[in-house]
Amino acid sequence: MTERFDGSFTRQEPIPEEGIAAALSVMQTGRLHRYNTGPGETAEAARLEADFAAFTGARYCLAVASGGYALATALRAVGVRPGEPVLSNGFTLAPVPGAIAAVGARPVFVETTEALTIDLDDLAAMARETGARLLMLSHMRGHIADMAALMAVARAAGLTVIEDCAHTMGASWDGVASGRHGAVACYSTQTYKHINSGEGGLIASDDPAIMARATVLSGSYMFMDRHGAGPERAAYDGLAFEVPNISGRMDNLRAAVLRPQLAVLPDRVARWNRLYRAVEDGLRGAPGIVLIDRPARESFVGSSFQFRMPGLTADAIAGFVAGCAGRGVELKWFGADAPHGFTSRYDHWAWAGPQRLPKTDAILARLLDMRLPLTFTEADCATIARIIGAEAARAAATRAA
Ligand SMILES: *Cc1c(COP(=O)(O)O)cnc(C)c1O
Repeated sequence: MTERFDGSFTRQEPIPEEGIAAALSVMQTGRLHRYNTGPGETAEAARLEADFAAFTGARYCLAVASGGYALATALRAVGVRPGEPVLSNGFTLAPVPGAIAAVGARPVFVETTEALTIDLDDLAAMARETGARLLMLSHMRGHIADMAALMAVARAAGLTVIEDCAHTMGASWDGVASGRHGAVACYSTQTYKHINSGEGGLIASDDPAIMARATVLSGSYMFMDRHGAGPERAAYDGLAFEVPNISGRMDNLRAAVLRPQLAVLPDRVARWNRLYRAVEDGLRGAPGIVLIDRPARESFVGSSFQFRMPGLTADAIAGFVAGCAGRGVELKWFGADAPHGFTSRYDHWAWAGPQRLPKTDAILARLLDMRLPLTFTEADCATIARIIGAEAARAAATRAA
């Protein structure tokens, strides 16, 4: 009998009861807007900012409308100029170069290593070649580059680093929380990330000037005092006259839903990593499958799983993906010709201008990816790994024949 998996790769856990209760109480007051507070009241959005600053160790935090909005706002807050090149990973998600395009700057992609992180030699070369001042570093699928080495390259090249931590909320490198290496970090609280408010984002930094500008940009009007982890009033001097309002605040309803999730994030991370290790153990030694090495200095969040199949042709991979899908295992393939679902590749983003990254092409052409929702059990993960292993064996046998 052929084994099948019948779980859903997109089923989320419910919002914790405390989050539901807090959201109901926000709705009962009608005060959904973050600046609509009663006397002596601290809005849920401001509380979330304080909670998140404490969680990451950042001095300042600002809650906003989405991860993509956080990225564009961080770019504006560090002083991006129209038309200027902004370096970013060749392997990332569309909203990252999209944020660069949103501010009228030009995304310049950097090559990818087999560890799925940014190629530091190419980063140094591209910084030299383009004269870029900014790097939007994407910790895509939670893979963290050697941050000490990366920051050394950035310092030498004079690059300001904005970190895209959409997949590394709760992760760290060498014991330092992801997002604490660059000048400013951006997080997403969209449904498929590590805490879920449907849509939402967070910006964190130790730099008062960046955070004051980000706060005014987000549409603070003159209510900067109603922020939970904002800079001192002096950081805002003159900004009301200089910085446009590009509204993208977070509301109290979403913040209410997020705070109890942030409180249990360490437990979620531990559960995600058990699922990740269950898939990894199950796939070890599977024919044709190369697992991604996770460095000892990286403490990651295994909310998704990637592996490579370097020996297969594009047709064979397409057949393998279809074989897995037929047995209920939903894989995403970065080698497909056209964008599919959430999955697309730098050369699909024609709006970013044509660029060629041969190393990244070779890696993405054989890269498979899957979600690991917390609604899976370790037994589910073992089943999934057996199915993938069996289909990989089939693909290898077809190839040999
Ligand atoms: C989801 C995501 C974003 C953007 O977040 P949104 O909240 O959906 O705008 C940015 N970068 C990466 C890598 C993502 O996966």
